[in-house]
Formats: sequence, structure tokens, C-alpha cells
Amino acid sequence: MGVLDGKTALVTGGSRGIGRAIVQRLARDGASVVFSFARDAAAAAALEADVPKATAVQADLAERAAAVALYDAAEQRLDGLDILVNNAGSGTVPVPISRTSDADYDQIMAVNTRAVFTLMREAVTRLRDSGRIVNISTINTVAPTAAAGVHAASKAAIEQFAASAARELGARGVTVNSVSPGATDTDLLHGNNPGIDVSDTVGPITPLGRLGRPDDIADVVAFLVGPDGRWMTGQNLRAGGGLA
Ligand code: NAP
Repeated sequence: MGVLDGKTALVTGGSRGIGRAIVQRLARDGASVVFSFARDAAAAAALEADVPKATAVQADLAERAAAVALYDAAEQRLDGLDILVNNAGSGTVPVPISRTSDADYDQIMAVNTRAVFTLMREAVTRLRDSGRIVNISTINTVAPTAAAGVHAASKAAIEQFAASAARELGARGVTVNSVSPGATDTDLLHGNNPGIDVSDTVGPITPLGRLGRPDDIADVVAFLVGPDGRWMTGQNLRAGGGLA
């Protein structure tokens, strides 16, 4: 018996990195999961093969219509949703505000903010009572680097969406929270830091002495969406090994 037996979940950007670990963990806890991917169909197929309770749906969340279409597809496949994890994030390499183009600004905001807003707007009316929403933010919202300007702003917005929706949805027993990872060992982290061994730079300045792993974040999400998280809502849990 798993604590999420009979529950259904949508995890965006679930094919790689942190999202993949969340899909694996929720399925292990008993949930049936739809996860989205944007481009890497091979990674999505590999996860489907690995996790029988998980099904992939392609959705480029930079496209305006993609979020509602994804929610529709997940709801149809799973016959209703209990859990929404907004994990997909833009892979745009962070640059200071002075070097951020309009196109990069639009891409980051479209994926990190607008798509999360749209999926949450669907969830507010369509998620089942006692459901769960978790938005994956970043510790950059409390400890921004010079290159994190637009990225941090895009994530700060989804923390506020969560805090506000927690109040909107409390009467239905739905909890809404954010999880803010610190540096976590994924393709995104390494792609954002070309030529740098992030384990060597971030590990030593992290109080817990190493880079985060995707399952470090997935375990926090599992807490929030499972029965032990029932009294947590409107919160932002920083999961960064003490970095912020
Ligand atoms: P990742 O390894 O690059 O994986 C990103 C996932 O999101 C993939 O499944 C990818 O699908 C999907 N994705 C990318 N662009 C998308 C788009 N336009 N539309 C829909 N899906 C898209 O990233 P990660 O490091 O696991 O990051 C997951 C989340 O954690 C992000 O929101 C990120 O901002 C946040 N975060 C990460 C770190 C870190 O250090 N890794 C720290 C703080 C916060 P495809 O493979 O098909 O492109």
C-alpha cells in the first residue's frame, strides 16, 4: 500500500532532472502520473518504460495554448486530477538584466510564469477536493545572483500565485505550496554553468557539503502532496542544503 494509492498527478517537465525524480517518487507512492516533456521524446519514452504508472504527453509550455491542452490531456487520461506539480522551467542560460533580450524575457516568463498561472487557473476549478498543488521555484528568489534577474522574478511570481491560491482553495481542502531548490545536479544546472564544475564550486559553500540531487527535491514534494503534508499550505519550502 502506498500513501498515494488511487491518486492521480500531473508533473510538468517530468522527463528529466528534478521532474523525473518527482514522477518516480509519486508513482512509487502509488499515484498514477501524467508527465510532460517539450522536446526530448527519447527521455520521456525511457521514463515511461521505467515507470509503468507514468504516461508522457508532449507540451511546449512556451506556446500559449499548450498549458490548457496539457491539463485536458492529463485529466482525460487519468479520469480527473488530485495533484499538480508545476516543475517545468526554461533552460535559457541566465544573464544579467543588462544583457537580457526581449526574446529571452518572453521565453522565460512564458514557461516559468504564464504556463504555471494557466495550469493553476485550470486547477482552481478542476482539481478534486483535498487536492495538492506544488510550484517548483528556486532559492534565487531569496538569494539572487547577478545573472538571475529575470529568472528570479519569474519564479517569485509563482511563489505568490501559490500563497494566494492557498487562500482561494483552502475551503475545498486543497493545499498549495512552493518548493525552492538550491543548486541541483541536473542538465539545466550544468547547461547554465558552462565550463564550471558546479560540484566543486557549490558543494563546499553548501552547509550540507554537496550539490543537491533530484531526489532531494522529490522527497520534499512527496511530503507536501502526501498525507503528512495535510496542514501545510501557502508555504515556500527551501530545499537547498542550507544555501539560503
Ligand atoms: P532539466 O533537467 O533541464 O529538465 C527540465 C524539464 O522541463 C525537462 O523535462 C524538459 O523537457 C522540460 N522543459 C524544458 N523546457 C520546457 C518547455 N518550454 N515546455 C515544457 N517543458 C519544458 O531541469 P531541472 O534542473 O530538473 O529543473 C526543474 C525545475 O527546477 C525548473 O523549474 C528549474 O527552474 C527548477 N530549479 C532547478 C535548479 C537546479 O539547480 N537544477 C535550481 C532551482 C530551481 P525536454 O527534455 O523535453 O526539453
